[in-house]
Amino acid sequence: MTSKNSFAALPLSKEMLQNLENIGYKEMTPVQNQSLPYILKNKDVLAQAKTGSGKTAAFGIGLLSKLDVKRFRIQSLIICPTRELAEQVALELRNLAKFQHNIKILTLCGGVAFGPQLNSLKHGAHIVIGTPGRLMNHLDKKSLDLKDVATLVLDEADRMLDMGFIEDIEKILSYMPKEHQTLFFSATFPKEIVELSETLQKDAVNIQMVDIEESNSVKEYFYQVNSKDKFSTLVDLFTTYRPKNSIVFCNTKIEAKDIAIDLRDANIDALAIHGDLEQYERNDVLIQFKNESCPILIATDVAARGLDIKELDMVINYDFPFTKEVYTHRIGRTARAGKKGIAVSLVDENDKDVDELFDYTDVKNLKKDKNFSLQPKNVTLVIEGGKKDKLRAGDILGSLTKEGKIPNDKIGKIDILPRQSYVALQRDFVKKAYNYLKNGKIKAKKFSVWILE
Ligand code: ADP
Ligand code: MG
Repeated sequence: MTSKNSFAALPLSKEMLQNLENIGYKEMTPVQNQSLPYILKNKDVLAQAKTGSGKTAAFGIGLLSKLDVKRFRIQSLIICPTRELAEQVALELRNLAKFQHNIKILTLCGGVAFGPQLNSLKHGAHIVIGTPGRLMNHLDKKSLDLKDVATLVLDEADRMLDMGFIEDIEKILSYMPKEHQTLFFSATFPKEIVELSETLQKDAVNIQMVDIEESNSVKEYFYQVNSKDKFSTLVDLFTTYRPKNSIVFCNTKIEAKDIAIDLRDANIDALAIHGDLEQYERNDVLIQFKNESCPILIATDVAARGLDIKELDMVINYDFPFTKEVYTHRIGRTARAGKKGIAVSLVDENDKDVDELFDYTDVKNLKKDKNFSLQPKNVTLVIEGGKKDKLRAGDILGSLTKEGKIPNDKIGKIDILPRQSYVALQRDFVKKAYNYLKNGKIKAKKFSVWILE
């Protein structure tokens, strides 16, 4: 008897099944169970499942099963956002590939010498795992031939988007045959992924593994406060819950502005977003919030409309909303994609209508710490050049890492707008990046740069 989670329920070779047993994979994980039948049928698949759910083996078993080992050509290409991830995927694939001799798996990543890679490529490979920059280099130098690729995998597609690799990927695709299978794997599910799937995939099977017990997991807290203590309570909320990022809702734009200023005075970094901002100021604020250059956004409902922010830890109702719908809408911004989130509401003596409805937590339970400070991980650098100047994220990344000598992992999200680009840098490296770009060049061109502070 084979259970429906058994690998034996799939059309896999005896040798493959034996090896899965040998490496201790007794049954399919849920994402494998959902996606493998389609992957093996050569369908395009877009799969989202949390970290550690076994996505690598899902595509790995699929592409290894399709491999024609006797044909010594690159038949699968896996693109990963970072070298570390590429190495991890290679390790897992080599483990899964033990069912047959002579399967050659090659990694092509930056940060290592080019020569040995050229040599390995000359000897041929069945499966290539690489990062976009280095793959592009090889394609430019004509050392990588993708004409026989039958399966393309984008692993951690969400991070790939965050790092601005889309254009590189489109370019890499242009070296592949038109007909091929495209598989997307992602831990989160922002709408950009769906858009990308629509452009790069064909009738993709959409698989989203949201944990039942984890969905709808906003934990709600209510605190009764005196209006004159509201601000100090807000500070205590940050001290107590320590969210990585949060949105604080106010009912008026004047209040939103004031609170942002007062928080900054209290060593808690915050930016306000409200209807009085110019479009460019709005971009500055949103980009800083999304790229981890500002942990707190103070917003009015109107300004927050349509904000698509993934992985928000906490929502605070500094002012209690006037209607139930607004309340639901506000708190629904946290706990997205199966993540746990916290929603905290302050209710003061002016909120007569809402009084006895809630199970209040005593403010005495909040931590107080005069020395508490909340500062962002990154600082944002703005480059006066964007899409219209043919600037791509890869160009900026290349220039900063190669000539600017900024380590790759100190560079965060890169956003390219039509005329400007925003680069998140770990705070200790922003001065170095700024000093380099002030005199240095990107694509042989000089651009003005400044730091958003
Ligand atoms: P993800 O890419 O979804 O974050 P990984 O592919 O890295 O997750 O898998 C996480 C761990 O689970 C790895 O150590 C992998 O070897 C293991 N694993 C994957 N599939 C199975 C399975 N069917 N049975 C047991 N362990 C598995
Ligand atoms: Mg993974």
